[in-house]
Amino acid sequence: MSDSNAVYSDLHLQPIAGQWRAGAAGKVLKVSNPYDGALLLEVPQANRSDLDAAYAEAARVQPQWAALGPSARAQVLHQAVAIFDQRRDEIVDWIIRESGSTRIKALAEWGAARAITLESASFPARVHGRIVESDVPGKESRVYRSALGVVGVISPWNFPLHLTQRSIAPALALGNAVVVKPASDTPVCGGLLLARIFEEAGLPAGVFSVVVGAGSKIGDAFVEHPIPSLITFTGSTPVGQGIGRLASGGQHLKHVALELGGNSPFVVLDDADIEQAVNAAVFGKFLHQGQICMAINRIILDAKVYDAFAQRFVARVKQLKVGDPQSIDTVIGPVINARQLQGLQEKIALARKEGAEPLYEGGLQGNLLAPHVYGEVQAEMDLARNEIFGPLVGLIRARDEAHALALANDSEFGLSSAVFSGNLERGVNFARQVRAGMTHINDVPVNDEANAPFGGEKNSGLGRFNGDWAIDEFTRDHWISLQHRPRQYPF
Ligand code: NAD
Repeated sequence: MSDSNAVYSDLHLQPIAGQWRAGAAGKVLKVSNPYDGALLLEVPQANRSDLDAAYAEAARVQPQWAALGPSARAQVLHQAVAIFDQRRDEIVDWIIRESGSTRIKALAEWGAARAITLESASFPARVHGRIVESDVPGKESRVYRSALGVVGVISPWNFPLHLTQRSIAPALALGNAVVVKPASDTPVCGGLLLARIFEEAGLPAGVFSVVVGAGSKIGDAFVEHPIPSLITFTGSTPVGQGIGRLASGGQHLKHVALELGGNSPFVVLDDADIEQAVNAAVFGKFLHQGQICMAINRIILDAKVYDAFAQRFVARVKQLKVGDPQSIDTVIGPVINARQLQGLQEKIALARKEGAEPLYEGGLQGNLLAPHVYGEVQAEMDLARNEIFGPLVGLIRARDEAHALALANDSEFGLSSAVFSGNLERGVNFARQVRAGMTHINDVPVNDEANAPFGGEKNSGLGRFNGDWAIDEFTRDHWISLQHRPRQYPF
């Protein structure tokens, strides 16, 4: 193990096929702090031959890694957890500087990534095959569970450390090798830092490679490559749909796990605790400036509580501190980049044009966009129809519970959701009619626990992460039968 007091250095290099080296594309990716624009790193990007080398080496070393006993693989994961603890400040600092996360969010992300690493350390001992009954005389039917082989991971910039680690940690624990393509805004948290951690934890060289390159340049080759048998993608719905098509319609069929966009409804029924619902809505909307797939996108209020909620919500939102994400009390930091900011400004202009009622419109300084709240939003308006991914939100008035449910389900997305009610069983009854992968009663839609199934319905994706569900995603079943005595054939 290296000196754990020294911070990781040379993060401009990528672990490709077992060696830390510069990418060969001849193009440099500049990584900067979204808050103040400071240049953090210049990463020479990877090209197609780097990608080929990473996949080839992953395929070569994977059988040896899988053949290690479960305890040996678990030990690497446990060691990674220990490094997460030792290097907590260093990791949190990278999350803040590279992704514009507030300290609150960066700590939450560090905690989520640590938790899935710890959960994954239990997978080698939990994975098991089966013996199933057979109707054929003398036959024994076994179902073996084994690693898929090589897994390609594509991750986004918003929770880069966690959303990469939630694929890598289970994949490795279950005996796979991985190649990661992080988002261009966050190559460190989305891959390079994790590779340093796993190297320090004792993972053999070549089992985990990172290729930093634009999705538009190496994305297709990454997905279509003959070596990986699973591509896990977390990102936007249009890109994810394209990846699904490539992975299932190309020359080499492969498994895909797609974690895509969301449009979470947050429903407040007429018997809800309004104070608590407001507290939840403020947190569930504005954590990480709203740049979370599960973030509240629509606040749907029973008409009986609309006015009371709106008044208290706006009063709370006006007090949120916007500023330097390093400050302990900052709640709203910068949005990730100028392109995202421009998209949000267009959404603000459209909300006004479509007739939403401005209840609060905060200011703008650099990439710091203060909250914007709109009332009387209608289901067909852009704020309700599309994923916002920023600190804007609309309030929607529902006539009654049935109308609130119809509004909640009126979306192409079905990732997370939430409902507030004074009666928990009324909440469950409502939740079971919401078409989503996740619904939280009297809480925010933003929840992720390492042992609970995470994933979406409709255009929010395919598959589930975490716990037993990750064991299914990252392994394959192989039916092997043994004919113990000669079988009688009909001819
Ligand atoms: P994005 O789709 O633009 O990019 C995601 C990743 O895909 C990046 O690494 C990017 O470089 C890569 N990519 C882009 N084009 C590609 C291509 N043609 N081939 C291969 N890879 C390509 O998404 P984003 O802007 O980084 O992230 C925000 C989106 O991600 C939001 O829609 C959000 O809801 C979604 N998201 C979903 C989850 C979830 O768990 N469901 C979690 C976080 C974010």
